[in-house]
Amino acid sequence: MSDQFHFPFAVSANTLSKLAKLNIRNIWDLALHLPLRYEDETHITPIADAQIGIPVQIEATVIQQQIQFRPRRQLVVQVKDVSGHVLHLRFIHFYPTQQKQLAEGNVIRALGEIRHGFFGDEMVHPKIRTDIEKGLSESLTPVYPTVNGLNQPTLRRLIETALKNLPADDTLPETLLSQLQLPPLLESLHFLHSPPPQYTPRDLHEGTLPAWQRLKFDELLAQQLSMRLARQQRLNGHASALIGDGHIIQSLLANLGFELTLAQQRAFNEIKQDMAQSHPMHRLLQGDVGSGKTIVCALAAAVALEAGFQVAVMAPTEILAEQHYLKFQQWFAPLGIQIAWLSGSMRKKAKDETKALLANGTAQLAIGTHALFQEDVQFNQLGLVIVDEQHRFGVAQRLALKNKGEDVHQLMMSATPIPRTLAMSFFADLDVSVIDELPPGRTPIVTRLVNSSRRQEVEKLVRHTCAQGRQVYWVCPLIEESEVLQLQTAVDTVAQLQESLPELKIGLIHGRMKPAEKAAVMSSFVQGEIQVLVATTVIEVGVDVPNASLMVIEHAERMGLAQLHQLRGRVGRGAAASRCVLLFSEPLGDIAKARLKVIYENTDGFEIARQDLHIRGPGEFLGARQSGVPMLRFANLEEDLPLLEKARDLAPILIAQQPEVVKKHLERWLSQRAAYLGV
Ligand code: ADP
Ligand code: MG
Repeated sequence: MSDQFHFPFAVSANTLSKLAKLNIRNIWDLALHLPLRYEDETHITPIADAQIGIPVQIEATVIQQQIQFRPRRQLVVQVKDVSGHVLHLRFIHFYPTQQKQLAEGNVIRALGEIRHGFFGDEMVHPKIRTDIEKGLSESLTPVYPTVNGLNQPTLRRLIETALKNLPADDTLPETLLSQLQLPPLLESLHFLHSPPPQYTPRDLHEGTLPAWQRLKFDELLAQQLSMRLARQQRLNGHASALIGDGHIIQSLLANLGFELTLAQQRAFNEIKQDMAQSHPMHRLLQGDVGSGKTIVCALAAAVALEAGFQVAVMAPTEILAEQHYLKFQQWFAPLGIQIAWLSGSMRKKAKDETKALLANGTAQLAIGTHALFQEDVQFNQLGLVIVDEQHRFGVAQRLALKNKGEDVHQLMMSATPIPRTLAMSFFADLDVSVIDELPPGRTPIVTRLVNSSRRQEVEKLVRHTCAQGRQVYWVCPLIEESEVLQLQTAVDTVAQLQESLPELKIGLIHGRMKPAEKAAVMSSFVQGEIQVLVATTVIEVGVDVPNASLMVIEHAERMGLAQLHQLRGRVGRGAAASRCVLLFSEPLGDIAKARLKVIYENTDGFEIARQDLHIRGPGEFLGARQSGVPMLRFANLEEDLPLLEKARDLAPILIAQQPEVVKKHLERWLSQRAAYLGV
């Protein structure tokens, strides 16, 4: 990413450094630095007419100034305006300069909200002006997001100058704009930076104003264009077409012990078709927790193996990678296929041996964590990369993967459903196969919300479940501030449970354990030697133990919806009726309440994801995408769906018919971010 500054006018080094903190590096960045809000200094409101809670500007004479010491030191100033009404201005922090400004007898303007205070009507920390001879502002005063050391007037001046220096041409042709009923870009920017006097601050926050619509549309269009171009580039690239003869697949299916669901078959067929192409596949296999994604990617792996290519399977955590390793061993080892394991925590000697096997092609399948994509790992003939829970990988890892596999087919898996608007925008470059059906014979999970004061009842339920030969997960609270504290809590939980349930075998698994220790605990749980598995959230994804039928989650109110849904999905995998108990502690915030309600009322991952998007915005879904794809500053996917649809429809037409428009538009909107495009 370029750190170059481009301003066609002088800006001091100090200001430049402040601007950099705001990600402002050129005049376009300045012009697109839009006000956070507006202040109305265009008229004076008599104190008598001011409504409570709405910002107003008053003009009045200071009649008394005093410093009060109770309840704490503060400056209190009484002012009186021509309507004869008195108002108190109260400053908890103040400077000698302010005392001077507010000397008795001075005429001042104060901008703020009036409220009923203990001693009468007051304004707390109003904005004060003494330059009243200047007259009133002609338009609303923009208030910009800023950083320490860069004040509003300076920023305002810089932006004004930038607006004057912007090239006059629009990126979008006039005919197009009139079809879309959108105003020119410059006009829109001028409008938002210095709105005409007839608009109130409230009007300007309406996203439906044409000026806003224009900015949002431009942004969405840039996103659509760049995604389409990235896709085109991929389709023009080369990868080996992978076509198998079916012999591995036949044996695999014959030994499986179950039939594929129709949804699994459909997804597999889509993947198979992609892999038979001579350009790289870039497909997301999406299916709710427990929908059976693993076997589908094993089948995809089988196609590549049949075609004589190597396959790499990468998972975000060692536990998850190990689960895949065990499954793939079970499925492929009997067919004489050699599988290599690679993770960051392996000893150098073992790693070197594995690397040699991958480099000379002896190992046909490689399974592991992102260690698989370190620079020194060479494959003999890599044909397919499978990435589980792709959204949990960071940008650097995605880049490494991309460099390793420009020309290989990529299959990504995710249990986090992508809501439609995100699929249309941030994920528009991916092809998606959806497994929208669970394997037969599952009974729905019953979810209970239980106040943590009733923990004993939950312990009884644990006892009851284990007495029936079933197993239990007990998830300890997430403690974001400290991993050590989190571990401590987990250890305490084990002790506490062991005391109340002495007859049960209780195990512990947490993120600080060595991979071998984790594997040992996991395997005891799989074997049924451990009845209750106490875990920090390491079991979040992928763990598959069908005999577990009770999931207890402590402090569920601290967790995100996607995480809760994933955790809950660890049970309900066998035929037994399963339960999920969400322990919560009061008081609950609004968001926590909303989340618990959603998870209680819904079992469909898609609906949960949709509501999550509504509660929190798209951050969670994007994960690694965040840096890879142009982010949206102005558009809001939910509100602006109509604009998004327009941008999506227009993008291919522009690419086909007006490449020069595409180029100009992207340059203007993505100049800084181009390096990361398409990662
Ligand atoms: P996820 O999509 O969450 O990764 P898994 O692939 O782990 O799900 O599958 C969940 C469980 O369902 C596994 O125990 C798997 O063996 C089983 N399973 C997968 N497909 C089927 C099917 N078609 N019929 C019955 N069981 C299946
Ligand atoms: Mg899985």
